[in-house]
Amino acid sequence: MLAGLQVRRDQAHTVKRIVLRGGRERSCEWRHPWIFSGAVDEAKSEVASLGETVEVVSSKGASLGYAAFSPASQIRLRMISFDPGVVPDEAYISSLVSASIARRASFIIHHSSFIPNSAARLVNAENDFLPGVVADCYDGFVVLQLTSAFAEAHRETIVSALMAAEGVKGVSERRDIDSRRKEGLAVDEELHVLAGAEPPELIEIAENDIRYFVDVRKGHKTGFYLDQREARALVGSLAAGRNVLNCFSYTGGFGLAAAAGGAASVTQVDVSSDALALARRNEELMFNHSSFITHHSSFSYVEADVFLYLRKCRDAGKKFDLIVLDPPKFAESKAQVMKAARGYKDINLLAMKLLAPGGILATFSCSGAMTTELFDKILAEAANDAKRDFQMIARTRQAADHPVALSFPEGLYLKGVILRSA
Ligand code: SAH
Repeated sequence: MLAGLQVRRDQAHTVKRIVLRGGRERSCEWRHPWIFSGAVDEAKSEVASLGETVEVVSSKGASLGYAAFSPASQIRLRMISFDPGVVPDEAYISSLVSASIARRASFIIHHSSFIPNSAARLVNAENDFLPGVVADCYDGFVVLQLTSAFAEAHRETIVSALMAAEGVKGVSERRDIDSRRKEGLAVDEELHVLAGAEPPELIEIAENDIRYFVDVRKGHKTGFYLDQREARALVGSLAAGRNVLNCFSYTGGFGLAAAAGGAASVTQVDVSSDALALARRNEELMFNHSSFITHHSSFSYVEADVFLYLRKCRDAGKKFDLIVLDPPKFAESKAQVMKAARGYKDINLLAMKLLAPGGILATFSCSGAMTTELFDKILAEAANDAKRDFQMIARTRQAADHPVALSFPEGLYLKGVILRSA
């Protein structure tokens, strides 16, 4: 015990110190994980390298904890420990990864016929106290995305900790995410197999008892929108007997959930032919392998721009009983929010007009910069323009394996509203 403490103190002496400007320690005191470049007093700070662990010190000389240094990014420091007595060494980082996995006790890593979900996010970056570390697990195959200098510097430790988890078959990494550039990290299109088994071309997962194929090489994000698991289940529960229009369908998620819930018909619309091709295979997979499905909804697939397709439906006088709008991120930053708002209003207004009386609109925004309040306002304006009355019957957010740390409100990005037309 004493020996351990001794080691930590010795390490602390070799750790470089970064000093904050007076009055700029507030967010750190509130345990927010980011410190921006403007808060750093360069003149009083030591020079550190990319990803190096540094001690963060207030202008008055008090230690605020330890962070990873990122010289190229606006987010200059990402806090790893707020305890001046704990230098985050490899063992500490490894324990953070294990703790994050342990918190997902309700998910399993392997598929079993008793457990309805075999895919989950195991590490959700800042929200699991591991800045820039995302690890999604598909039936035992973990796909990593590392978007911070911290994550990059501790890749080996993170991979070992993931490999040590029960049921993990292998760990691969995708380095194609744009935010790596902001941290000065290299970007490429490969799937890097870092440990264990290489994932198959398509991984079969179960979500809410429905099977999906996931392409972890070319699919979006790490392959699947795991964050919508709970919303897909909710939409499924509302779909019986309805004619469903699933806009921005990707590989079919909401449409298949609706079909499992007894939808009369499902129209999957996406601009990507690859996404639709996989959606078709997922339809086949569901009906051939899910014994609980007794009713086969009629499916159609439309490769189109949703903005144009909704207008085409309007002009043709089509009606639907349930419409899902799950578009990609329209706003990358606060500066783009107003432009994004126009896009959200446009599709929501069009969808509202296409709803039959009593119809349901499940509408989402995954733009972090779009607040819940603004999204509600856009929907109210769209309803007003559509001259229709709607009731909000539910709100959704990213699924529980994508938690939001209370000290990190930026962690909430996915918002959903379920509306019923009068
Ligand atoms: N709802 C999906 C995830 C949607 S992701 C699920 O549950 O898995 C967003 C999708 O929108 C992507 O598949 C992308 O190809 C598609 N997309 C982006 N812009 C589009 C547009 N203008 N028209 C149609 N599809 C679009």
